[in-house]
Amino acid sequence: MKHDISCIGCGVQIQTENKEKLGYAPSSALNKEEIICQRCFRLKHYNEVQDVSLTDQDFLNILNKLGETDSLIVKVIDIFDFNGSWLPGLHRFVGHNPILLIGNKVDLLPKSVNKNKLINWMKSQAKELGLRPIDVLLVSSTKGIQIQDALSQIDQYREGRDVYVVGCTNVGKSTFINRVIKEVAGGQDVITTSHFPGTTLDMIEIPLDDGKALIDTPGIINHHQMAHFVDKQDLKVITPKKEIKPKVFQLNEEQTLFFGGLARFDYIKGGRRSITCYLSNEISIHRTKLENADALYKNHVGEMLQPPRANDVNEFPELVRHEFMIKEAKTDIVISGLGWITVNDAGAKVAAYAPKGVGVMLRKSLI
Ligand code: GDP
Repeated sequence: MKHDISCIGCGVQIQTENKEKLGYAPSSALNKEEIICQRCFRLKHYNEVQDVSLTDQDFLNILNKLGETDSLIVKVIDIFDFNGSWLPGLHRFVGHNPILLIGNKVDLLPKSVNKNKLINWMKSQAKELGLRPIDVLLVSSTKGIQIQDALSQIDQYREGRDVYVVGCTNVGKSTFINRVIKEVAGGQDVITTSHFPGTTLDMIEIPLDDGKALIDTPGIINHHQMAHFVDKQDLKVITPKKEIKPKVFQLNEEQTLFFGGLARFDYIKGGRRSITCYLSNEISIHRTKLENADALYKNHVGEMLQPPRANDVNEFPELVRHEFMIKEAKTDIVISGLGWITVNDAGAKVAAYAPKGVGVMLRKSLI
């Protein structure tokens, strides 16, 4: 239910139904004299921002307003789900404002990955996607890796301007901002919020030394991520928490791999070869013959092949087949939010199956 009451912290209209949406407060809070939304409550008492998500239209409104500011835009993406967390078209909205690209969750990639190569890879991918960031950085917000460095880069590039941090949900933007709050604001009160005129959206401002601010914008939901198709417990299984251990398979033609019951990879043609899977270590991979794969899935999804669990199988979307000819060596087949499969040599015919609605694509190999 929406209530005709505004939060004293940020001015958003209070609602008591959806914890994940703007303006949520538990019904018990309505009896109080001064009502504060849960997001401001956490910020005030714990100096911690909470995730809120937005509809696509609200998000577009925000992006449009960013173009009218004179600011530095910090775009946070999840390096484990680079394409899924990209925010296409950002460059069209931000006008002349420079964009600093931050790849979060670098702790998930194998330590052997060369960071400079990865940064160059990110630059070239960004360029292909139409973005020319002024710089590209890698951080881990949970481990605190390179956060100080990111902050000094932000300070250098902002040249006395405000900083807007944008990103889609799940990239770890709140975790990043919470780190920043600890480093920048220390014990200071950060509950100053700003409104963009013409929108109903509140944003968290972290005051900077020179009267400017670092401003957290709400995240946009990317509907093509696997995260939206599994329940919360399964989300824990598919979201890697630790350094990913790549799994190498020597495959013969007409062999299939199942990633739990969430996705499937058919190696169809191209002679015996090796492929490498980069997924959460907790997802079990099951190998079978292509000719048996359909029946195996039908009979064992929810049991041997899980997630999804038995209870959720009926609601789990059907798997959709995407066939590819791998024309270049070192190509990744990416299943948004789940991970990717690297095919090392050119000339393979493969098919990837993902739940209907989940993005599947090819890219030049990240590792
Ligand atoms: P937001 O929706 O972008 O605000 O994302 P959150 O900050 O809520 O983070 C989403 C998930 O990613 C949570 O499970 C975090 O623990 C995790 N996460 C955030 N930053 C990192 C990181 O640097 N490394 C790893 N491994 N996980 C992270």
